[in-house]
Amino acid sequence: MSKDNLTAVLHGIEDLRLEQCPIPVISDDEVLLAMDSVGICGSDVHYLEKGRIGHFVLTKPMIIGHEAAGVVTKVGSKVRHLAVGDRVAIEPGTPCGKCELCKQGSYNLCEGMVFCATPPYDGNLTRYYKHPAHFCYKLPDHVSMEEGALLEPLSVGVHACRRAGIGLGSKVLILGAGPIGLVTLLAAQSMGASEILITDLVQHRLDVAKELGATHTMLLKREETAEQITERVHKVMTAQPDISIDCCGAESTTRLGIFATRSGGVVVIVGMGPAEMKLPLFNALAREVDIRGVFRYCNDYAGALALVASGKMNIKRLVTHHFDITETAKAFETARKGLGGPIKVMIHVQPRDTNNPVKF
Ligand code: NAD
Ligand code: ZN
Repeated sequence: MSKDNLTAVLHGIEDLRLEQCPIPVISDDEVLLAMDSVGICGSDVHYLEKGRIGHFVLTKPMIIGHEAAGVVTKVGSKVRHLAVGDRVAIEPGTPCGKCELCKQGSYNLCEGMVFCATPPYDGNLTRYYKHPAHFCYKLPDHVSMEEGALLEPLSVGVHACRRAGIGLGSKVLILGAGPIGLVTLLAAQSMGASEILITDLVQHRLDVAKELGATHTMLLKREETAEQITERVHKVMTAQPDISIDCCGAESTTRLGIFATRSGGVVVIVGMGPAEMKLPLFNALAREVDIRGVFRYCNDYAGALALVASGKMNIKRLVTHHFDITETAKAFETARKGLGGPIKVMIHVQPRDTNNPVKF
């Protein structure tokens, strides 16, 4: 095994460095992974620019990255389901497993959660990374390492659609066609939605949504009010949406979600916007529109993997840019400045396709 453990470490605001770190030593229930693919998430960019997200504050250097897949190179003595050479997707959060929320199955809400690249915990944009084996999901040969990394955002979409109660024939409005809006679109289709309208301010993202099978796309103008857009949405769809999923987090989109949803429907908020916003709650209560939050995912990885493995989901369409780990700075510049219209920027820790038995 090489001693090279080149790692992307965020030291502070605008201070992301590539440096050598010690190769981690695993415990009995962990695996050591040779990292392969790591996607850049909006939150990684946010930590780089602001050094914090809400109450998660960067106070010491932190390895960045959490949308990832790697190859098992060492196995702890108690690990039964994985072997050296297995290609795995990494669910980046490890809950305590002991608290009431964990016991009830809502482990995403565990207060003791250790989550990659959420201060103070390290992420996995590095050559060698250790992780609890039970949060590693073995990939079938025909699922690429990149797709493995994409299971992370896809799991957010699956969780959002489960929270929304999407089922056969659901009519769905998705606000925002960024990576999260697009994975939500894919998950909603798979779960039986019959009509999906997706909105954004950027046409090329809507074009991708259309390509992925959105039934309608709608370009919004910043000056339009939520009430005006609601009228447009109701004209385009065959009926008022049963479910609206906000994947932007802007006050205007959350307001739109509430106004546009049919009486008795559900609004799900995935986008992380300002801590407080002005919302038409009377409108929601008088029409019994339920408003539900989404925080990451919980027992969603296996379903997300099954969907991708079925071959019916074109998740890899989301990846628009590829960089080597040595080009991490350029990869982040591309993601944050929108250079070349990126949707998902993928960083390859090993040359692309090294670990894909089937070429993609
Ligand atoms: P993104 O910024 O790439 O995408 C957001 C999209 O919304 C963009 O395409 C943008 O053009 C569009 N948009 C912005 N303002 C708009 C407006 N007023 N009207 C219409 N469209 C508008 O981000 P992303 O990676 O897709 O993530 C989306 C949101 O989801 C972010 O707020 C992110 O923090 C959040 N998120 C939440 C969770 C969770 O667990 N709840 C997990 C991951 C991401
Ligand atoms: Zn817990």
